[in-house]
Amino acid sequence: MEFRTLRSEVRGPRSIISQTRSSITLCLLLAASFSGCTAVRHAPIAGDRTTDLARALNDGHARSVILLIGDGLGDSEITIARNYQVGAAGRLALDTLPFTGEYTTYVVQEANPALPDYVGDSAATATAWATGHKTSHARLSTTPQTDEPLKTLLELAQEKGLRTGNVTTAELTDATPAALNAHINHRNCEGPADMAPCPKYKKSAGGPGSIAEQTVDHHVDVLLGGGRSRFEQTIDGGPYAGQTVIQSAIAQGYTVIGLAPALSAMQPGGMLLGLFASGDMGLEWRGEPAKRYPGSGPQRCVEGVRPPSEPSLAVMTRKAIELLDHDARRGFFLQVEGAAIDKRDHAADPCGQIGETVAFDAAVQVALEYAATHADTLVVVTGDHAHTSQIIPAPQPKDHSPGVFSTLITADGANMTLQYATNLPGRSQEHTGTQIHIAAQGPQAANVVGVTDQTALFALIARALSLEAHRAT
Ligand SMILES: [Zn+2]
Repeated sequence: MEFRTLRSEVRGPRSIISQTRSSITLCLLLAASFSGCTAVRHAPIAGDRTTDLARALNDGHARSVILLIGDGLGDSEITIARNYQVGAAGRLALDTLPFTGEYTTYVVQEANPALPDYVGDSAATATAWATGHKTSHARLSTTPQTDEPLKTLLELAQEKGLRTGNVTTAELTDATPAALNAHINHRNCEGPADMAPCPKYKKSAGGPGSIAEQTVDHHVDVLLGGGRSRFEQTIDGGPYAGQTVIQSAIAQGYTVIGLAPALSAMQPGGMLLGLFASGDMGLEWRGEPAKRYPGSGPQRCVEGVRPPSEPSLAVMTRKAIELLDHDARRGFFLQVEGAAIDKRDHAADPCGQIGETVAFDAAVQVALEYAATHADTLVVVTGDHAHTSQIIPAPQPKDHSPGVFSTLITADGANMTLQYATNLPGRSQEHTGTQIHIAAQGPQAANVVGVTDQTALFALIARALSLEAHRAT
């Protein structure tokens, strides 16, 4: 019964998506001469969904959890990608999960942890969902001021015997994945040669080492992303002193790969470290960056620019699930990060941002397809903090903000103007502090409904997986 309900939850919206996509193609083909395009301008008529929602309620336990984090994925970024890719009345895969809410993402001040810092960075916000505790900027799963390690969902899942995976389009040592398998007081300590901000954590000082070292030493079953240069640095203490982090990974039982074909050839069994780029992985799309008034565009983005040697986020997600799910006796915990939504928002690059959001949505679709046949899977889709980009009216000669703009031609065939104005033109745009979207399906999913806090996501997942920590939350 539950199985059929979940399948219909996924299939229904999929048919809407495919209908909408063909309408978009028609709409774009006709845009020059046809002003209607009505097929994508009317949302499906909303009927009474009470029964469907009641059937989707599940207060049971999950065998597995797939957590998908869009870095910098605020409501604005979702709406921008939806308008561009499927039209204002279309729906993305991430729009189809049955339960949604908003959660607050404030962090705390290092100088006085009793006070909030209303705009978080990805390290402190990841610590909140990964450990259930608020911390201050740049910290990864450590307490403000006192550097105490905070137990993470990944560690608790390992203690319970679950298999674990961590996937990102950024460096694997970047803040979001790092919060699950590293405890360190500064996010910049990514490799053994990057330890100036946190000398006491060096292995030569008796510490647990950099983020790259801690990641490998945690024996996470599947690690996929960028950041190879961090893992090529030389370890300065402990049993692997003088070796690179990659060499220490191989010595500890990892298979290490670096190209997309090698990933597709991987078979279940053993631990996998996939490092597909020296730094961050390549972007999916490109286009003109936003500019001062009157801005760039109107433009359509150039798609398909990701290097062929690098797998997409959806491909990494599908493979991670395949590798983690091979043991019927054990469930898994998998984190999947779409990292460059945030990075291209910082750069006021609308096409880069939208392309990464669409790629993230494709990874969500992979998770939903798995859940359609594995109803004991909790799927959660959210962001970590809000960001800069806004949809605004077309700027006028006398009335426009001092920020930068770009106008995009959407799937509706209409112009959409975006503004980036949280810093001076040419400087890195800033995160913002609004509450953001969270969506879920499967066991415990209804607990995202309403306004919750980011730390509640830790409790939700711990409870769904019956992890030790859920008793205290
Ligand atoms: Zn950021």
